Formats: sequence, structure tokens, C-alpha cells
Amino acid sequence: MMSSDRITQLDEKTIGHIAAGEVVERPAQVVKELVENSLDAKSTHIEVEIERGGFDLMLITDNGSGIDQSDLPLALDRHATSKLSSAADLSSIGTLGFRGEALASIGMVSELTVSSRPRGAEGRSIVMMDGDKGSVQPCGMAEGTRMEVKNIFSNQPARLAFQRRSPTETSKVVDVIISHALSHPKVGFRLKSDGKIILDVPATDDMEDRLYDVLGQQAGKMINLKAPASDAQAPGNESWTGWISTPDITRGKGDDIHILINGRPVAAQPFLQAIRRGYRTRLMQGRHPVAVLMLELPPTEVDVNVHPTKSEVRLRNSWRVLERLERAIAHTLESTPTEPESSGPITGITSLANQTQESKPVQKPSWATSAQLSLSGEQPLELKPKEKSRPISTAPTSQKTITNQAPIAPALSSAERELHRYAGADMTRPGSEEPLGPVINDLPPMEPLAQFADSYIVVQAKDELLLIDQHALHERIRYERLRHDESIWVGQTRISPVDLNLDQRQETKLAAGIHVFDQLGFIIEKDVDNFKILKAPALLKGDELEPFVHDLLLDVSQDGAPLETVEKRKDHLAFLNSCRGAVKANERLTLPEMRRLLDDMRRIPNPWACVHGRPTAMRIPLDALDLHFGRHG
Ligand code: ADP
Ligand code: MG
Repeated sequence: MMSSDRITQLDEKTIGHIAAGEVVERPAQVVKELVENSLDAKSTHIEVEIERGGFDLMLITDNGSGIDQSDLPLALDRHATSKLSSAADLSSIGTLGFRGEALASIGMVSELTVSSRPRGAEGRSIVMMDGDKGSVQPCGMAEGTRMEVKNIFSNQPARLAFQRRSPTETSKVVDVIISHALSHPKVGFRLKSDGKIILDVPATDDMEDRLYDVLGQQAGKMINLKAPASDAQAPGNESWTGWISTPDITRGKGDDIHILINGRPVAAQPFLQAIRRGYRTRLMQGRHPVAVLMLELPPTEVDVNVHPTKSEVRLRNSWRVLERLERAIAHTLESTPTEPESSGPITGITSLANQTQESKPVQKPSWATSAQLSLSGEQPLELKPKEKSRPISTAPTSQKTITNQAPIAPALSSAERELHRYAGADMTRPGSEEPLGPVINDLPPMEPLAQFADSYIVVQAKDELLLIDQHALHERIRYERLRHDESIWVGQTRISPVDLNLDQRQETKLAAGIHVFDQLGFIIEKDVDNFKILKAPALLKGDELEPFVHDLLLDVSQDGAPLETVEKRKDHLAFLNSCRGAVKANERLTLPEMRRLLDDMRRIPNPWACVHGRPTAMRIPLDALDLHFGRHG
């Protein structure tokens, strides 16, 4: 009765237990802390051994600098660290650890043995059991440090009861090692679980080797992240580098997205949205790419001291950093399948596949290989059997005489349908559109020779033969036109206001983001109990309005901060509409329409890729044909 509501100072041990609860949530967390210590100690080889998901044993052995024997007992004390000496250092942390809590916390909840032998010294070890330190003992060992953690949480039944199953924990440990392996290619890692080697990656100077060692085959499908040149002038000192997968490789979860900030692996969650946006519509709903993305920025721009486990960090300019990432991804994908060449690998793709190391099995991205034509005869062009035969084209000159037999449309693949899910029924004929500006790329004047399968245009371009995907090209042209035409963004009064059926949450979001809609040419007002669209950009048709607003509301971000600038929304609108109005496959074009497409092609900045990032054209140089038909030499 008397003492229960009086305040008392907790004893050190209790404080330690409380703190340990935050730092050491699960075995994988312990492995992470210990591996980070080994990395901070400049190790070049780290071995990790676990038994039963780490619950029975975790053993981390490194060849780093070691701990001086007089420091050994200190290393086990809370807030004892060699990595930080004053509060001022907190703003420029260069090591993975700095809080001095890990060993103390681990020793609270397990049987911890720390053994260490610095260069030129003898090996010494110390044991800490359930928070009690033993004395320093001599021990024989190689230079470096060995951390042994046994029976974690066995003194904490409550914590133990909430642990995952050991296989789950094992896979979490694998994740931990993988993300560190990706951030430290110069360090060799070996992971053993229940006696089996699970991961064994040698130290390397080449990040791409490490990618192969860690990601295996799928590394061949990764493309190098490349920021747009204009980003060099963008405000901020941060930079993103790394690798992203081509859109055909996806995962149901974001587990294969690795984010490293100044070499520190952090949780990917806060970055997932920006990454998906960078992929635009190339990813299907709910899918995530594979990516290794490295952010470098001045230490003062990032606060790593916001979470006991340090897996979350705070960025001073997070919007800016996320937008930069999104731009880099979008740019990389947009510029990837450029200038396909007829023989040899496609040069525009700087995928790892093209920088082949002989010893490594290599796969080219399937979307890249499929755009290649084999002229050597060694690799026959793979033709997938189509369900229905494709229509045969005739030369445009004889078009008048052809019978008006309806073309049979081959079924679109599901990937194709997904790409073109915005393509509506209506189509804009190429001749009917506004002219574009001057010629701005180095394509020569081109002449359509024929249309093939009502889907491809056969084109003579100086001494090259081009096969052009009419839909892909038209889409790209329309995108460039829409994007730069200010008049289509002017709000147009709707004859009858369009009702928006919004729920409470959407209404709140709309209110918060109404300025975004204003800037896009919308006027949305509430009458009595319903929101109505009074004005909307000319670009949007009546029945598209409501779904569009709903989509946009999903984008208007949680805390009202506009993740996307209005420019980007315009981009998106232009993107949706470029696909919608473009000529489809299986659509007969007249000769003037083909000429118009080819002429427009010379007046756009990126003629080689459609807005989905697929190629618009295949190039076959005359030389390659001559070679194929034995006219050379
Ligand atoms: P922190 O890493 O935040 O400094 P820890 O509790 O993880 O705190 O480690 C305490 C100290 O023990 C470190 O600052 C470091 O000096 C020493 N230490 C821990 N592990 C190693 C290791 N593997 N090699 C060398 N020194 C280590
Ligand atoms: Mg540490």
C-alpha cells in the first residue's frame, strides 16, 4: 500500500533490461549489431554461424582490429563506445555503431562471450551472463574478435514467447547478411546455419561481382541507375547510384529492395513508393522491383540516431531525396532500350549482362533479347506460335484494291494488356494532330516501304532498314506533343457538373490537396452534400473525370505534402493520354499517315523508346544484310 505509488530510482540492472528490450528484439537484430561491430573494426572477413535461427547460438568471428584487453570489460558497459566522444560527433557519424548499447544489451539477455586478440597482443575473453560480467581470461585465438551468444532470451520467458519460428529467424538473418554484403563488397562474408553454408561471398573490389554473388542469376537483369543529366544542377548534394531490375522482374514484396544510406543498410519501406513511381506504369499493381540503391549525402543531412536499432534514419530533405530517386529510376528506364542494334548486344543497355565476365553465367533481359534480330543464323529468331494467324500486309500502293476483309487481331499477352490498360477505344489518326517543332534528333529523312501485319512499318532510313512498332512510336510522339502543349491544361467548363462520390477520407484528402487540382485546371466545388467537378483540363473526357480524380487522390500524400509536383502530374496525364489515343497494333495505316509518323519521329527527343520503355524500332543496317547474304569479302 505504502510504497507502490512512491517514485523510486530504478537500479542499473533493471534500467539495462529495459534498454535491452529496445535494442535486442530478436536474434537477427543481434546478428546485425555484431556484424556492424565487425565492419566498424575494419574487418575484411566476417563469419557468422547460427543454430536454430540464432536462438541456441550466434557466433560472429572477424579479422578486425580487436579490442584491447583493458577495454574488454568496458565494451560490455552501456553507453561505452570507442566511436563517439562528444555530442558534437553525433551530427557526423561515420561508423555503423555509436550508441554503445549493443554488447551491454545482448549480455543482459543471453550468455555472451567476447573474445578478442588485437594485432601483436594475446587473446583474452570475458563472459557476461544475464547481465553479470565475469573476469578477463586468456584464450587462444587468431587476430580479430569472436562474439558468442548462447540461449538468447532464455531468462526472458515473456520475450521468448513472442519470438518467431526459427526458420523465419534464419531467413531474417540471411537478409541481414545480404544487405551488409551488398553495402560492403570489399568484405568477405560467410554464413552457416545449423552446420550448412548458406552464403559464402569472397571479398571483391568490383560491386558487380558482389551483385552476382549475392543475387545470382537475377543480377544479369539489373540495369545501372543513371540520373538525368539535368539533375547535376538540381539543388542538394545527395546522389543515388545502384542497380534496378528491368520491369519484367518483380516481387510480391519489397524484400529485394536494398537501400544503403552512406553505406548503412536501412529499412526500405519509406522508399518503396518513390521507387514504384519511378517505374511509372511499368509495374503491375502490388509488385515491387529488385533494387540495390545507394544514397550518398553529407552526414549532416541524415540523422541516424532516431531509432535504437538504427534501421530507420531521418533525412533532412526527404522529399527532395525521394524525388531525385524517382527521377533517376524513371530516366534510367526511359533511356534503357535505346538504339537497338541488329548484331551483338543492344548497346544502349548498360546491363551487367553486357559487361560479361567469362566465368559467370549471364542472361540478357528477356525484353532486350526479344528486340534483337539474329542475322548470323546461329541463333534463330524465336517465333512463338500465335493462337491465330496474323493478317498479311500489302504494299501501301495497292491498298485501294484490297478487299475489306477484317484483320484478325492476335490475342495480346497479359503483359501487353497490362501495359496498355489505359488505351481506350478511341484513337487519333496520325495526320490529324498538330505539327511538332523542328527536327531535333539525328534521324535522316525516312520513307515507309510497307506496313507489315498491320502493326509494323517497314522503313528505309538512309542505309538502314527499320522495323517500327507503330503503336509504340505513336505513343511516344503523342506524349511529347501533349507534354509540351500548354493549351490542353486549361480548365474547360463542363456542361453538366460531374458528381464525385467521395468517402470521408477522400473528402479530407481532396480538401488538403485542392491546390494540386487547381493547378491542373480543375475547379471542384461542394454543393449541399456532394463534391462536383465544374471545370477540368480539356484533355480529360467526361467519363474519365471521376476515375482520374480518384486516382489522383490516392497520390495526394498522407500528410498533405505534395510528393509529386504539378509538373509530374501533368507528365502522368500526358502519359495516360498518349497511350489512350495512339494507333493500335492491327490497325491499317495509309501511306500519308505512315509518312507523318516518320516525320514526327525526327522531331522528338527520344525516338527509340515508347513511354513504357519498350523499343519503338529495330534497326537493320545494310552492312548487316550484306554480311548475312555473303556479299562481303
Ligand atoms: P557501439 O558499436 O555503438 O560502439 P557496442 O556495444 O556495439 O557499441 O560495442 C562497444 C564497443 O566494443 C565498440 O565501440 C568497440 O570499441 C568494441 N567492439 C565491439 N565489437 C567489436 C569488434 N568486433 N571488433 C573490435 N571492437 C569491437
Ligand atoms: Mg555496435
